[in-house]
Amino acid sequence: MSDTAPTVSKHARDVLDPLTDPGPAVAELDTIVGLSKRRGFIYPSSEIYGGINAVWDYGPLGVELKNNVKRAWWRAMVQERDDIVGLDSGILMAPQIWVTSGHVAEFSDPLVECADCRRRYRLDELPGTESITQADTVDPTVIDRLGLVCPADGGRLSAPRRFNLMLKTFLGPVEEEAAVVYLRPETAQGIYVNFRNVKETSRKKIPFGIAQVGKAFRNEISPGNFVFRMREFEQMEMQYFVHPDRAAEHFDEWLPRRRAWYEAYGVTPARLRTRQHAPDELAHYAKKAVDVEYRFPFGWKELEGVHNRGDWDLGRHMEASGENLEYFDPATEEHFIPWIVETSAGADRAAFTFLLDAYREEEVRGEKRVVLGLHPELAPYKVAVLPLLKKRPEIVEMCHRIKADLQRDVMAVYDDTAAIGKLYRRQDEIGTPWCVTVDVDSLEDGAVTIRDRDAMTQERVSADRVREVIADRMRAARP
Ligand code: ATP
Repeated sequence: MSDTAPTVSKHARDVLDPLTDPGPAVAELDTIVGLSKRRGFIYPSSEIYGGINAVWDYGPLGVELKNNVKRAWWRAMVQERDDIVGLDSGILMAPQIWVTSGHVAEFSDPLVECADCRRRYRLDELPGTESITQADTVDPTVIDRLGLVCPADGGRLSAPRRFNLMLKTFLGPVEEEAAVVYLRPETAQGIYVNFRNVKETSRKKIPFGIAQVGKAFRNEISPGNFVFRMREFEQMEMQYFVHPDRAAEHFDEWLPRRRAWYEAYGVTPARLRTRQHAPDELAHYAKKAVDVEYRFPFGWKELEGVHNRGDWDLGRHMEASGENLEYFDPATEEHFIPWIVETSAGADRAAFTFLLDAYREEEVRGEKRVVLGLHPELAPYKVAVLPLLKKRPEIVEMCHRIKADLQRDVMAVYDDTAAIGKLYRRQDEIGTPWCVTVDVDSLEDGAVTIRDRDAMTQERVSADRVREVIADRMRAARP
């Protein structure tokens, strides 16, 4: 076992040790929720109709951030690797897949209900369940034994019952049992059922991986904490198919690599840790599972899971479909069912983490400055082009020329709706790494100022070199 991944029970993570706790990047979640709404990162979904619980919409800046997160993941997991290829499978799949995978029978959480107020809770999230075991979650006497009551009104709670998290819909024009299909609760199954197709068409040799980014749906009992736990969200999953004898070794390579990815894009290393699942917490098929956790304002929580899934997935699908999903190694003439090492991340949770961890408040010349120190690759806009005097048409025209040139490479924006100091602060608050300012001198000498978000330093460069300078800086910043 890796010494960076101590085995602790699910709830041990909720206990914060004041001596070692790095503290959250932002004390109050509302600071980020407010900024997200105000600046157009993330809005509550269906807001004009009073909202819908556990769904959030990404605004103009949020969609850029999330796309950049997905692109950064794809770059690290597919583009820069010869052994991993991509896939985009359907959200709707043959319902039998979810029976085979165990989701129909097992993908459930323990639900309890208050007899008085009818509020519903996930048993293992109630106060007083800190040392609960997996066996307790199906024990009808657990409520009395642990003396649990409704946290809202102290009412009597029902015995736990299993609540399946899969969302259902009907395929075709008839709404009957036979037409029921599920909205996928994970993207991984689409990869397993395409294993043979991808192996044959990509001609990859083991070890190789298949990566997929896409929506997943879970009818979570207690969603919340902004986009941390939603009912509709996006996953970034990679399944690495390996020889059974080498699965442990590959696992030990993937775990630090995945943790390092968050650090490379700016997450404070002290706010990341790995936590190995205790034996009673492991899914029945899993050989080993370690979470990369982040210190959110609401505690240490899972950011990504790295799992050794053994031969469970391909083995089960082979048995249920009757199709041969074995791998043949011509060098050793061996036929075997590959084992799978999975890295399973959430695009929303990752974007949320980058947003949180980038937030800082500083005092500059007696004034508060809010900065999102986002990595340039993740920042929604790379450059803002600003006029020092918007009343001078030549200055405005020069700004637009520079911006149009930049837009061929990167997201760039023009703004003239305030004085320059305020325009800088606005860009700082949304994480724009560079501002280009055109002033009266620019009309004479053809040079402009590039201001750096973090150092607040200013450099004078020739206007026709701006695009090249920004491209160089972007390249230099790339992990
Ligand atoms: P948790 O313990 O937080 O419920 P999980 O162990 O069920 O998560 P996995 O099934 O391993 O999560 O899913 C992989 C990743 O997908 C998670 O690490 C997380 O980033 C993301 N994810 C899972 N459920 C949600 C959700 N409801 N909302 C947003 N992201 C999610």
